[in-house]
Amino acid sequence: MVAPLELIPRARLDPASYARAQAAAFAGHRLRIGHSRVVHDVTWRDWLGDLQLPVPACHQSWSGLATTGDLSATTDPANCRKCTARNPATTTAVAGQTTLFEPATPRPTSISETP
Ligand SMILES: [Zn+2]
Repeated sequence: MVAPLELIPRARLDPASYARAQAAAFAGHRLRIGHSRVVHDVTWRDWLGDLQLPVPACHQSWSGLATTGDLSATTDPANCRKCTARNPATTTAVAGQTTLFEPATPRPTSISETP
C-alpha cells in the first residue's frame, strides 16, 4: 500500500517535550503576542491530557495556542491594562495604550429640568 501524498507538509512535534520547553521558556516570565508592545502576565491553560501551555493571564485572545510561535517570553514588566488591573505588583503603565470605555458618570441635573 502506498502512503497518501502529503500536500501540505506538517511539522511533527512531541507534545510532552514541547510543553516542557514552553514551561522552561515562560516560567517566571511574561509574554508578548506577536510583535505587540503590550506585555501580559502569564497563566497556564490545559492543552493535551495533563499538559499545559502559557497564555495571557488576562485571557487576551489571539489565533493559535502557543504552538504557532506567536508568543514570546520577556522579562519586561507587564503593561497590559487588564493585567495591570489583575496584578498591579507586576505591571507598569504604558504610554499610548488608551482606554476603550470610560466609566459612566452621572448626568448632572438641574432644578429647571424638573417639572
Ligand atoms: Zn494582559
